[in-house]
Amino acid sequence: MSKKINTKNKKQDDEFFVLNLNQFRMITGYELSNNDLILEINKNYEVIVPIEYNVSFKDGKLIFEDFIGEKSDSVRALANSLKSGILNKMSQSIVEGLTNNVTNRRTYYINEGIPLIGHTAFGLIDRGTNVIQIRGLSGCNINCPFCSVDEGNHSKSRKNDYYVDMDYLVSEYKKIADFKGNTKLEAHLDGQGEPSLYYPLLELVQELNEINGPKKGIVSIQSNGVNLNEKLIDDLADSGLHRINMSINAIDEKLSKGLSGKKDYDINKILEISEYIKNSKIHLLIAPILLPNYNDTEFKKVLDYAVNLQQKIPQNTINPINNKKNPILGAQLCLTYQFGRKVPKMKTWDFNKFYGLLANYEKEYSSNGINVNLKVPLNEYFGSHVRTRLPCPFKVNDVISATVLMDGRVNGEIIASSMDRIIQVINCKLETCKIIGKRINVKVLRTKDNIIVGTLVK
Ligand code: SF4
Repeated sequence: MSKKINTKNKKQDDEFFVLNLNQFRMITGYELSNNDLILEINKNYEVIVPIEYNVSFKDGKLIFEDFIGEKSDSVRALANSLKSGILNKMSQSIVEGLTNNVTNRRTYYINEGIPLIGHTAFGLIDRGTNVIQIRGLSGCNINCPFCSVDEGNHSKSRKNDYYVDMDYLVSEYKKIADFKGNTKLEAHLDGQGEPSLYYPLLELVQELNEINGPKKGIVSIQSNGVNLNEKLIDDLADSGLHRINMSINAIDEKLSKGLSGKKDYDINKILEISEYIKNSKIHLLIAPILLPNYNDTEFKKVLDYAVNLQQKIPQNTINPINNKKNPILGAQLCLTYQFGRKVPKMKTWDFNKFYGLLANYEKEYSSNGINVNLKVPLNEYFGSHVRTRLPCPFKVNDVISATVLMDGRVNGEIIASSMDRIIQVINCKLETCKIIGKRINVKVLRTKDNIIVGTLVK
């Protein structure tokens, strides 16, 4: 893990007795409280750095009071050394763990030296198609009671979050894009959390868009809509974002609040921003999820809402991957997962039953003169297609040697690396802090899509 604080420096022309925190892109807020420097990192994270010198703090500048007015070279050298000491301490504190203000969880800052392929909580996922999933962070700002990854601050199973440095994320994405033959690619921002919380999101979208080639590929994002506002939509459109997959699961105020698990969730605000997106250059895809026996009526209301919206503001954005206009709806069926949350009343359906329901709704719309496709095969409508897959260096049942990097996403998991892959080592009873940096032997249990899961062996 890099121990260097990310210094996308702005011009610095301060006196030698000043340490200007405004020069660091990752520092997005600050406060000096007693002798603790509280830094906001990339908007959502916080770290506390104790300061052991006589300093004052104004407008993001730490001022070494004792040195003001001093001119000698030795004082200048001393000030510079104190400044580097503080910077080192800041870097170290960030490496040792940020606090995610959204989820209150410890967050690891992922930078060069940590592979980005192998885990589902952060990094990059290649499932052998032209769509590359980008997971810049974990952590969600709402608490859907059906969440397949048990996200949000109500989570019982998630104990750590991860944030990936943008420059590193982009440079690793470029390698995969080149490997796949850089044309007709979709960089899809999703993950175990709310992708729009990523900072700097606009730069990330812009850089991915530049790599894909604006007329050849696209950048898309999933969102629950809570963090979106008109300014952000305008900026995302300017950055070249092609599509937002918006989760809307009910129209009724009470039920939608319940399905978000957040008391200040406001469905009217989500509908307003959806309409704003529909009027922008960004393509809006509404993605309601059916929880059979729970939100059936509301699910249909979301379909009606989307169909009406599409009629009011027809879709004009062309997807350059298949030269088609993409559909307004991407209906989904709720499934249950090992670490996911479950809504007690929900029934389990298979896909045949789900597609049968969608077919009936299509007929109903059609009898009213409205042509709607609710069963949307990804290849036909979004241009998804099979592409060269990154090779996997391991096979199931291999026993490999790996280096322990950090604590895992859930209890009993540690994160290790080997051969440029992250390995989720599960069912581990060892205390992570005692084995960081150590070599361990791991039996590989899963390699599908280069998501590597293993278990400790002697
Ligand atoms: S928005 Fe997605 S990640 Fe967040 S709690 Fe809901 S289902 Fe989970």
